[in-house]
Amino acid sequence: MIGKFEYVILSFRNCETNELKEFKPTTPEEMNKIDDQFESLEWKRHKRGYIKCSCGKMVACNAFTNTCECGVDYNFAGERLAPRSQWGEETGENWTDCY
Ligand SMILES: [Zn+2]
Repeated sequence: MIGKFEYVILSFRNCETNELKEFKPTTPEEMNKIDDQFESLEWKRHKRGYIKCSCGKMVACNAFTNTCECGVDYNFAGERLAPRSQWGEETGENWTDCY
């Protein structure tokens, strides 16, 4: 586990050669070790966390809001959000306007 994430996909792209490397650390220690190998400036880092939903499905948390197939929403940090029915419907606010 890394924070709330079951595992994380770490990608590094080399700005000069366009080389792409992907890793799947499952512990913070592992993630730090990988980060240490790509400390130089030509590597661009991208991190995508996966959480296990209560329904058992893995959900990638790389956007502001991430929705599982079962309808549960998670934020980028892997925290479960309140059901959409509670998202200020009384004001007529549409959740797609939030972006
Ligand atoms: Zn789910």
